[in-house]
Amino acid sequence: MLTGDRPTGALHIGHYFGSIRNRVKLQRSGAEIWQLIADYQVITDREVAGDIRGSVTNLLVDNIAAGLDPEQATIFTHSSVPALNQLMLPFLSLVSVAELQRNPTVKDEARTAGITSIGGLLLTYPVHQAADILFCKANVVPVGRDQLPHIEQTRVIARRFNDRYGHVFPEPDALLSEAPLILGTDGTKMSKSKGNVIELRMSADETAKKIKGAKTDAERHITWDPDHRPEVANLLQVISLCEGTDPEQVAAEIGDGGGGALKARLTDAVNTELAPLRERRNELAADVGYLTSVLAAGNERANQMAEATLAEVRDAMGMDYR
Ligand code: ATP
Ligand code: MG
Repeated sequence: MLTGDRPTGALHIGHYFGSIRNRVKLQRSGAEIWQLIADYQVITDREVAGDIRGSVTNLLVDNIAAGLDPEQATIFTHSSVPALNQLMLPFLSLVSVAELQRNPTVKDEARTAGITSIGGLLLTYPVHQAADILFCKANVVPVGRDQLPHIEQTRVIARRFNDRYGHVFPEPDALLSEAPLILGTDGTKMSKSKGNVIELRMSADETAKKIKGAKTDAERHITWDPDHRPEVANLLQVISLCEGTDPEQVAAEIGDGGGGALKARLTDAVNTELAPLRERRNELAADVGYLTSVLAAGNERANQMAEATLAEVRDAMGMDYR
């Protein structure tokens, strides 16, 4: 398994329900886990990376607190793995500009960031991401719905490479969770870069405050109607994911309690679900030496894997001159 997050902030409940729970499940089932902190991807839709060191630390702490075990999982930053990045060159030769320009997630991200002229890295980062996924020959990638076009692009690149040079890469599958798109407090996709998030690291009080400001609708009676009441349905879904209950049943129980009761129940549910993670998080965040050693060990393992795959690629392409 490979999956990744951009170090653009701290992880939120969209990551938790959209991807992290599947990461931990796969780890328990004995899968080989590669967890990427996608630092070069930060500068796809902004000029400077900001407090990237702080964000890298946040991702390390969030993932480990959520259950990733650094003994079993290789956690690494792709800027530290030169051979991985070199895979992008042959991969770029396998895609057309028109194909890249059609990618709906890239278009969405450009729109969200207010970018009118798409830069070279934003256009090609799905190819870079194919290198992330294929350098360790991952065959399963737990992701949210926004990532499906990129996984499809990765499958196409693997197939074209294998057709041209002989079999080297698997065609990986996306693994969607039961919550592939958690909405933020403004009713659009919850995203680190948008400030519409409930972060894993927030205190119980901060969580309550954030939820109080969440968008609902004018209808007082609470019903489960994802097609017509997406914001209310999203809050009900998060409650049911935390409690392991049925969202329709939760809606019936709240009924005329309205948005106030809905938000009170959500606050309790989120704070209860995240309490153990938050406690582990606080302990981990204080142990800087441990975090540094986890990343150093992960980067070393990732470099070994990337060198081996790059050697195989050069060999397949007839470029092994040693
Ligand atoms: P950014 O705003 O910086 O792009 P992000 O919140 O979109 O941040 P990413 O690091 O881009 O987070 O995504 C990491 C993973 O989490 C991806 O697999 C993505 O699909 C998943 N993910 C992100 N947001 C959500 C969401 N709201 N619901 C479900 N999954 C999500
Ligand atoms: Mg994103």
